[in-house]
Amino acid sequence: MTFEITFFDGVTAHPRQALLTIINRVWTLIPKQPEEPHHTWSDERIKLEHYRPGASLVLRVEGELVRIQASAEVADLLYQRVKHRETLFQKCYSWMNNVGSVRLVAIGLVVMVGLILSYALWVSPMIGRLAANLMTIEQEASIGHKMADRALEEWEIDHDKSAILQAFFDNLGFDTDYPVRCFVVDETAANALAFPGGTIVVFDSILSVTEDWQQLAALLAHELAHINERHSLETVCRNLSTYLLISVLSGDVGGVSGILIENATKLERLAYSRSLESEADQFGARYLKAQGIDPGNMRLLFDNLERHSIASSRLLQYLSTHPLGEARSSVLPERSLSWPEPSMTSGAKALFRQLHR
Ligand SMILES: [Zn+2]
Repeated sequence: MTFEITFFDGVTAHPRQALLTIINRVWTLIPKQPEEPHHTWSDERIKLEHYRPGASLVLRVEGELVRIQASAEVADLLYQRVKHRETLFQKCYSWMNNVGSVRLVAIGLVVMVGLILSYALWVSPMIGRLAANLMTIEQEASIGHKMADRALEEWEIDHDKSAILQAFFDNLGFDTDYPVRCFVVDETAANALAFPGGTIVVFDSILSVTEDWQQLAALLAHELAHINERHSLETVCRNLSTYLLISVLSGDVGGVSGILIENATKLERLAYSRSLESEADQFGARYLKAQGIDPGNMRLLFDNLERHSIASSRLLQYLSTHPLGEARSSVLPERSLSWPEPSMTSGAKALFRQLHR
């Protein structure tokens, strides 16, 4: 086989016209300029460095780089002859060259979207859990209270109502390891928030939606479940996972707490996942039952919130952070007509009346 080629020997930048003959696994390169030296290489001494499809090959021959330029047909033929001696890296490189730039960009985009999705779906929840697990309850309470205090600076606290709500919560006697603080803030939007470590903030407007003391107890039980089950901490950590990654990797709880407190006000807009919402419903209903309160009040509360959200946009904020699943109330028990009166009823009724004054 004899081919017309152009070659660069890597010593000078001059292209040289030559005839390449391959016979019995021996390559002979004869430059057209008579004064130029001939080259003779055996097949096994030739390694492929780089191939540009249909244009040129860069070969390494005994440590020296040689570039051969030829017609598309010849270049491809020479490539087929030497390609089995590519390293894995070179194979990838040749593959990328063969794929073409448009398809390569498309593949790159697909890979990037895949990476972003897996970060959002798996990596950031995992970082959230890791950051949450790094903290003891005491550390969480201390950081969480600082976060809540930072966020409360943005709202007008109703101190009288806060004291009544705190008494109402204490009177319910829910079981928790956290030192729970309750606040009522004057806001037209109807919302209720649970901060990591035990702060519940109830916006004044949502109080008027609760029809009786048992629905308010259900609201507090639901928020307490977010605290007890560390949903608040995990959700905040998940949303700040990029910042937290370095702190978690270095096991630096101080760094984690700094980031959390700095971003405290963001919690108002953070939505829990539907699975955490449904978990908070189930746990909340259990807390009610454990205190002798009909767990059916949880269902009644959410049916009530849904009804009000249709009539008024004030509830949109609560529903945007506590998304209601369509099947939400159907998995919760209904309120029973024969449920015995709970022991805290008279105290709870009186406090509930004071909150609605
Ligand atoms: Zn919730």
